[in-house]
Amino acid sequence: MRIKRIALQNFRNIEQLELRPGEGINLIHGENAQGKTNLIEAVWLFSGMKSFRGARESEMVRFGQENARLTVEFFSEGRDQSASLTLGGKRGVWVNEIKRDAVSDLCGVLPAVVFSPVHLSLVKDGPSERRRFLDTAIGQLLPSYNSALSYYQKALFQRNALLRDVQYHSELLDTLEIWDQNLVRAGAQVMLLRQRYIARIGQAAKEVYEGISKGREEMNVFYQCSVEGYDPDWDLPKLRGELEKALRAHRAEDIRQGVTSVGIHRDDLAITLGGLSARLYGSQGQQRSCVLALKLAECGIIEESMGKVPVILLDDVMSELDHSRRDYLLNRIGERQVFITCCEEDIFHVLQSGRSFLIENGAIK
Ligand code: ATP
Ligand code: MG
Repeated sequence: MRIKRIALQNFRNIEQLELRPGEGINLIHGENAQGKTNLIEAVWLFSGMKSFRGARESEMVRFGQENARLTVEFFSEGRDQSASLTLGGKRGVWVNEIKRDAVSDLCGVLPAVVFSPVHLSLVKDGPSERRRFLDTAIGQLLPSYNSALSYYQKALFQRNALLRDVQYHSELLDTLEIWDQNLVRAGAQVMLLRQRYIARIGQAAKEVYEGISKGREEMNVFYQCSVEGYDPDWDLPKLRGELEKALRAHRAEDIRQGVTSVGIHRDDLAITLGGLSARLYGSQGQQRSCVLALKLAECGIIEESMGKVPVILLDDVMSELDHSRRDYLLNRIGERQVFITCCEEDIFHVLQSGRSFLIENGAIK
């Protein structure tokens, strides 16, 4: 998987931009507010379908313009291909010049992994960020995960509404039972897929982290399932049974509080360094390395599962990393196409090969 040409029009501060990247590392450098992150965000839209900065579509169209147009030409599965997107009033998606119905048709066409400072929240913030990471990563691989998750979320919404009514209408208890069954069916499916994915990414991230940190400390990742007594060996029937039991055990409390207190919406992913919580005890550089290890591990899993090598997008990753961590990142990332942004071009001296591009006021110089 290799991008050969990127063409952007009216995307954020970019009026018109064309870039022909190289096969390996591509360094995008420039001063603050010139459009480096915008460029990364544009490429990511083809893979993630949503801005990693949480921006709405209209916010990404250049001020005063109606539409933004993004095109990427790439080599994948042995042939040249292309994908285009228009954002704004007239939205459209094209793959190999054929118009598609929805942005979701881009799923898997141009796989990428992105790291930007906002992703540090994966280690620094609360569990919802980590659940989002899992949901996006697993959803990219398994559409059945997305359906189970959205089924669960609908059932959860209904159950919570019902919990508040049951306080005054005890005859609704039977209906609650039905929603519990729905929640258990979809919830156990999600738990199983999370369990499998975490085992896989945990092992891979541990290996990458070892390389980044030169084995100075060990990173571990494990599933913190909200069901009491959880064991990673539980199979689907056991997960169902235990989730059902937990819902029943919490029912009285749930009715009092008007919310569901146990289930996959309360899961977490524990990240430890040398046995200590990375969130509570990790340094800035260590936390950054943890997120990078997770992202690169995710990349390896995409490669294995989809048989396509994802493009790696690294926004502002270099600051806070010492020389040896930078060196690992720039030179040991493998045979992948990488886009790295930073303010100074001088990090280029650690780079053994690659291309560098200067971006100024939304244009490549
Ligand atoms: P830094 O080094 O600080 O991270 P950067 O080069 O990554 O800078 P970007 O985040 O890409 O900078 O943003 C560049 C500029 O794009 C910002 O000054 C911002 O105001 C501008 N911008 C954002 N959205 C739009 C928009 N819809 N229309 C026009 N300009 C925009
Ligand atoms: Mg930036």
